[in-house]
Amino acid sequence: MRLTDYFLPVLKETPAEATIASHQFMLRAGMIKQDSAGIYIWLPLGLKVLRKIENIVREEQNRAGAIEMLMPTIQSAGHWKETGRYDAYGPEMLRITDRGDRELLYGPTNEDMITDMFRSYVKSYKDLPKCLYHIQWKFRDERRPRFGVMRGREFLMKDAYTFDVDKEAAVKSYNRQFIAYLNTYERLGLKAVPMRADTGPIGGDLSHEFLILADTGESEVFCHKDLVDMAAPGDVSDGDMQAVVDSRTSLYAATDEMHDADEFAKVPADKQLSARGIEVGHIFYFGEKYSEPMKASVQTADGKSANIHMGSYGVGVSRLVGGIIEASHDENGIIWPKAVAPFDVGIINLKSGDAEADAACETLYSQLKAAGLDPLYDDRDDRGGQKFARMDLIGLPYQIVIGPRGLKEGKYEVKDRKTGEKQSLTPEETLTFITAQF
Ligand code: ATP
Ligand code: MG
Repeated sequence: MRLTDYFLPVLKETPAEATIASHQFMLRAGMIKQDSAGIYIWLPLGLKVLRKIENIVREEQNRAGAIEMLMPTIQSAGHWKETGRYDAYGPEMLRITDRGDRELLYGPTNEDMITDMFRSYVKSYKDLPKCLYHIQWKFRDERRPRFGVMRGREFLMKDAYTFDVDKEAAVKSYNRQFIAYLNTYERLGLKAVPMRADTGPIGGDLSHEFLILADTGESEVFCHKDLVDMAAPGDVSDGDMQAVVDSRTSLYAATDEMHDADEFAKVPADKQLSARGIEVGHIFYFGEKYSEPMKASVQTADGKSANIHMGSYGVGVSRLVGGIIEASHDENGIIWPKAVAPFDVGIINLKSGDAEADAACETLYSQLKAAGLDPLYDDRDDRGGQKFARMDLIGLPYQIVIGPRGLKEGKYEVKDRKTGEKQSLTPEETLTFITAQF
């Protein structure tokens, strides 16, 4: 993409309403624009990142055997009345009436709808287990929308739902999602720690939140240091799943709501970590909570009827855009992990209009594209300082600077955005180096 052809409305000043780094940088880098409280326009640069995150989440769900579908954003109140949640949900739910005075709502989550869908087709244990998911916009009329996309009112979520014949089978489905989450966050360049979570009025002990550690997180967290350093498990066979989950859940990790100071004191002092965290996922086994009131049951192998055991599994896709920035930035701007960067590499032309500089940039730009990379070419007629600042702000993993001085010696300058390391390379070396990074 040539910058002169693109739509990248970068701001010089930090908007006063933004108090944390991710919100400030997303506004300044032209990724989002607020339309009303907690509701954002995703500008081209922001949308590219959102889509990359969404795709990684999707690939890992598919790898875990989940099946993608798409439910609507607008739901009928009927499903929610059946489960009793229509009244229980409270003012966070956006309630709507249509022209025929029918009660609708903008979905904050989809358990009720999917249970209704599933029960109308599936009647036998032979069709279980199943895991269905979608990646869809949600609306929650949050009391305090803040921190940009981190706590929006409209936000993008991946929500998966599992259907099993009994608790034992449901725990396997839960473990499979647990492992998929570890793999997903690692691919996003994040260290997310699974923590025991409150199951609320439903009871039971099977719920985990996944949190990334960042000073600006809304939750106070306590965990065993080793959890932060564990590598993701990758593909895990059915027989090994429980051991992989246990290797995490046996180490202490809890948010303040679930924190037990006496238990935490048993963690060796040099392994105790108390920090702040951002919730980027939440998984939940809730058994018959919806299948019971909605009479979603199947015939079992011995000819009896049993309520389906269900779980739900959320990933905050749009929150992750902000979360990744909180975990990876410096004073000059964003530092994108390669997997989610909006472009792979930036080319800075220090003398746009100069025949030699233009030709060198154009050649490199075409070569990078031919190599399958996605370069952003700053071909604007701005001062060098402005170009450097803008490129640092938007945080592409590599920058290639081409200007008359370097060209005299046949060299380009290649900068690693993360380490700040600069190398002076020939055009051939530049191409070899950059393509080797992806
Ligand atoms: P929170 O405690 O942060 O309000 P929650 O527990 O209500 O979140 P869940 O119902 O567990 O949220 O939703 C699944 C995921 O969706 C969360 O882990 C979070 O990453 C994301 N999410 C929830 N609410 C918001 C929001 N208002 N804006 C952006 N992402 C959100
Ligand atoms: Mg939650």
